[in-house]
Amino acid sequence: REAKGKMPVYKGLENYKLLEKMGDGAFSNVYKAIDLRSGQKVAVKVVRKYELSASQAGEKHLNREFKKKPRVTERANILKEVQIMRGINHPSIVKLLAFFESPEHYFLVLELMEGGELFHQIVKLTYFSENLARHVIVQVAQGIRYLHEERGVVHRDIKPENLLFERIPIVPSKNPPPKQFDEDKEDEGEFIPGVGGGGIGRVKIADFGLSKVVWDEQTMTPCGTVGYTAPEIVKDERYSKSVDMWAMGCVLYTLLCGFPPFYDESINVLTEKVARGYYTFLSPWWDTISDSAKDLITHLLCVDPAQRYTIDEFLAHPWITAAPAPPPQPT
Ligand code: ADP
Ligand code: MG
Repeated sequence: REAKGKMPVYKGLENYKLLEKMGDGAFSNVYKAIDLRSGQKVAVKVVRKYELSASQAGEKHLNREFKKKPRVTERANILKEVQIMRGINHPSIVKLLAFFESPEHYFLVLELMEGGELFHQIVKLTYFSENLARHVIVQVAQGIRYLHEERGVVHRDIKPENLLFERIPIVPSKNPPPKQFDEDKEDEGEFIPGVGGGGIGRVKIADFGLSKVVWDEQTMTPCGTVGYTAPEIVKDERYSKSVDMWAMGCVLYTLLCGFPPFYDESINVLTEKVARGYYTFLSPWWDTISDSAKDLITHLLCVDPAQRYTIDEFLAHPWITAAPAPPPQPT
C-alpha cells in the first residue's frame, strides 16, 4: 500500500480526501477515502478516461496517450456498471454510493470494504476449513441468487479478487500459523487493532465491470424481447447465468484447498484443461475434505451448462444446508 501523503490529486474529487490505495484493478485505481462533507469512510474507484476507446476520448493528445495503453474499456461499459449497481440493494453486494465524472476521470464512490480481497485471505491462511469456506460461499451465493433471480443480472467476473471482506478478518497469530482455523476457534486469532468486532464477518461481491442484464426486471423475459425470442437466445440467457455458477465452483474449490482447480504455466494448456473441465481432487490436499463438498463442486465444475447446478440447486445442496447459515450481521 502506498505511503500516506503521496496520494494523487484528482480534479473533480475535491469533496473526498484520499487516504490510501486499496486496489490496482486492470481498469482502475481504488482508494480508501473520507467524504469530507459527511465524514463517512468510503472507497473511491477512479477510472481514467484516456484508457477508454479512442473514439470516446476526444482530444488528440489523449488519443496519443491511449495508443500506448491497451484498449481496456469503453464509456458505455462504465455507465453500464454504474446503472447495474444503482439498481442493486443486498447485504452481500458492495453498494454504489455516488457516481460522477470530470473531463479526465470517472469516479465511483463505493461502500468501503476494509478487509480487502478474499484472495489475500486465502494467501494468508493457505486454505479455509469447511465451515469457514461455507460461511464465505453462502454469503456469495445469497448475493448471486439476488442478482440472478431478482435482478436478472449475471456478474461474469466472480473470483477471489472481486469478493471483499467488510472488515479485516482475524489473522492467525500462532507461530507457525495454523493451516486452518475455524470460526468457533476464532478467539485464538489476533485482531488487527482499530477494527473491532471479531470473526470473519461479511463478504460482498464487487466489480460489476463485466456484468450484464439478461432478464427484463418487470416482465422477467429475455431483455428487449417478448414472445418473438428464438430458443437459442432464451437458452443463451439461461446459460449465461451458469457462468457465475462455474466461477463459484472455482472459488469454493480454491477456498477448500488453497489452489485453483485449473492451472497451467501455459495459457494454451490451461485453456484446454478448462474447455475439457479437466481437474482433480488432488491428494493429499483433498483427502480430508468431505465427499459432500466434493459432490457440490462436481455439480458446479460441470462442462455442460445445462447439467450445471443453478443457484437454487446450489443453495439446496446438503453441504450448504447441513450447517446453519451465517448469523445475520449489521450492514
Ligand atoms: P477492476 O474492474 O479494475 O478489477 P474492481 O472494482 O475490481 O476494479 O476494484 C479493483 C480492486 O480494488 C479490488 O480487487 C479490490 O482490491 C479493491 N476494491 C474495489 N472496491 C473496493 C471497495 N468497495 N472497498 C475496498 N476495496 C475495494
Ligand atoms: Mg476486479
